[in-house]
Amino acid sequence: MRPWGILAPLGFASPHFTYRELACHHCGRIVSVERAEELARFLEDIRIHFSALAKESVIIHIDSAHRCPTHNRAIGGKSHSQHKRGLAADIKIDRFSPSRVYEECMVMHNRGQIGGVGRYEHFTHVDKGPKRTWEG
Ligand SMILES: [Zn+2]
Repeated sequence: MRPWGILAPLGFASPHFTYRELACHHCGRIVSVERAEELARFLEDIRIHFSALAKESVIIHIDSAHRCPTHNRAIGGKSHSQHKRGLAADIKIDRFSPSRVYEECMVMHNRGQIGGVGRYEHFTHVDKGPKRTWEG
């Protein structure tokens, strides 16, 4: 069977996000360079939103972004997860509580800038998939 994706290259997918931090934690692979760059651009928009609120550059921590099917299954991810398509990230943002991150991601969601938003205790899921929200 053809392996999923490609090994994440070194370097930056966008000004603030490396390919490696967007890669699957279990195998270090990404769907494709193009998909990683698309996700990174999306995360840059979120970073700009929160940096404006904080009035300074914020750091977005990526808990999980691209996931291969094996890893997605192992951690109990949804079988149609946007993580497998490389279009989702679970994020934390310095100096913003998870509930504040969720609220502000909902502002962006309502403007059509974020597709899916999932609220979890310790992080927020954001993706470029269809418009929907849930509580984890
Ligand atoms: Zn993997």
